[in-house]
Amino acid sequence: MPHDQDVEGDTSDISSEYECLQCGKIVRAETSPGECAECGGEFQNRAKSLE
Ligand SMILES: [Zn+2]
Repeated sequence: MPHDQDVEGDTSDISSEYECLQCGKIVRAETSPGECAECGGEFQNRAKSLE
């Protein structure tokens, strides 16, 4: 009986979705995109809100 198979499987996509807190623009990036190109607002990592 196999056990201890904690492999996550899909590790090819390491980017996360970030949403601009001001205009709602969504971008995908591996790291925080910094400020929004549209309005200069802050981005929030959407994945972190899925707790
Ligand atoms: Zn924006």
